[in-house]
Amino acid sequence: MLETKNYKFWFCTGSQDLYGDECLRKVADHSAKMVEGLNASGKLPYEVVLKPTLISQASIRKTLNDANADDDCAGVITWMHTFSPAKMWILGLKEYRKPLLHLHTQFNEELPYDTIDMDFMNENQSAHGDREYGHIVSRMGIERKIVVGHWEDPAVQEKIGSWMRTAIGVIESSHIRVCRFGDNMNNVAVTEGDKVEAQIKFGWEIDHYNINDVVEYVNAVPQGDISALTDEYYSKYGIILDGRDPAEFRKHVEVQAAQEIGIEKFLVENNYQAVVTHFGMLGGMKQLPGLAIQRLMEKGYGFGAEGDWKVAAMVRLMKIMTQGIEGAKGTSMMEDYTYNLVPGKQGILQAHMLEVCPSVAEGPVNIRVCPLSMGNREDPARLIFTAKTGPAVATSLIDLGNRFRLIINAVECKKVEKPMPNLPVGTAFWEPKPNLAVGAEAWILAGGAHHTAFSYDLTVDQMVDWAACMGIEAVVIDENTNIRDFKNELRWNSIAYK
Ligand code: MN
Repeated sequence: MLETKNYKFWFCTGSQDLYGDECLRKVADHSAKMVEGLNASGKLPYEVVLKPTLISQASIRKTLNDANADDDCAGVITWMHTFSPAKMWILGLKEYRKPLLHLHTQFNEELPYDTIDMDFMNENQSAHGDREYGHIVSRMGIERKIVVGHWEDPAVQEKIGSWMRTAIGVIESSHIRVCRFGDNMNNVAVTEGDKVEAQIKFGWEIDHYNINDVVEYVNAVPQGDISALTDEYYSKYGIILDGRDPAEFRKHVEVQAAQEIGIEKFLVENNYQAVVTHFGMLGGMKQLPGLAIQRLMEKGYGFGAEGDWKVAAMVRLMKIMTQGIEGAKGTSMMEDYTYNLVPGKQGILQAHMLEVCPSVAEGPVNIRVCPLSMGNREDPARLIFTAKTGPAVATSLIDLGNRFRLIINAVECKKVEKPMPNLPVGTAFWEPKPNLAVGAEAWILAGGAHHTAFSYDLTVDQMVDWAACMGIEAVVIDENTNIRDFKNELRWNSIAYK
């Protein structure tokens, strides 16, 4: 995975000076214990850092602006231990630009029945203070996540951890630079889009090069490096010769090894984290990069085929959001290819010409060299495998001309009934929620593409929250989707998002 920062989240407790020093000492003590507990929970992917209790407009404004300026701070978690008059928060919130979590909790889990008195009530009133604070955030129209419950509850901690990954996606979005070799495939509509608007909304820098700019890098890779990487492939993956001569087969694989090294060098030197290719625009490339791109995706680069820069950026984004997840199941570009329409066994076979990320693989990963049915180059080497089972999300970011829409489909990945020995590509097979008929109808109504950015390791809610922070429309297709309501949602959204 490409390196990202060691991000931290600031924990800001709100109060006021009405209660006296003794009370504020308790507030600070409770906050410290909570931050310590959250960090020790093992549920948070990033560290929480305690900030001094905020009791005035000046301290709120300064702290939130410090958070803006601190490159390591990926977001702020706010909590009103006591009552914090919310007009104090207006200027700070107005100037704050990073992801915001409102943790609606309190220090004690249970009412202290035997000892509770009015002092206790006044000192532990987040039920009261968090409503005052929430009011001003809503009135100001600021996007934030609200998590409700006791801070020691593992479910609450998991929600905070999940939001942290969304926040990283928000912060890192503006660090994504996409390298396009060639333009989008001619005549294709859904891979098009407004790159200026994408930079305004998401911060993505989307540049263009001639494919021969990188061919020079590929051709300059020393044979020793090519041999060493090819040896690594041979030790790591199975080899399926399909009756080809072993020496000729290896030559085909070496072309991909040179491409992996050359393309990555180009991306590193020019600071790109995502890349697109186009099978119809290969210049001096001997093969369409297949295995090479699969390996780069596995390392953490985003990828989109046929010039699809939106998918390339989304795959990169989702890889960043899932960074460091223990037992991660994988994130990849996918393409809706062909259906199984047998009742009770319905689903969509997912693949691409070559470029599916092996991070999603389960079982053996093998190399094959096969002809491409499109283009006019050598038979490319590629990794083939089948993908894992279980729940996942498939997303499609589309440009509707006046706005972006993110379509988010909950899907259930399954094994296909029988092996497909003649299919020379990595595949997944999934049934969209709530079922194929409704899921596919809703997807098509929403204008979703055939290319998707797909992950087993993210939830629908994380993607919805990301879209909300980006200020774009998101529609969800999941177990609660029905077509009548979905059509109305699209109709209403066309008014709400302009
Ligand atoms: Mn495609």
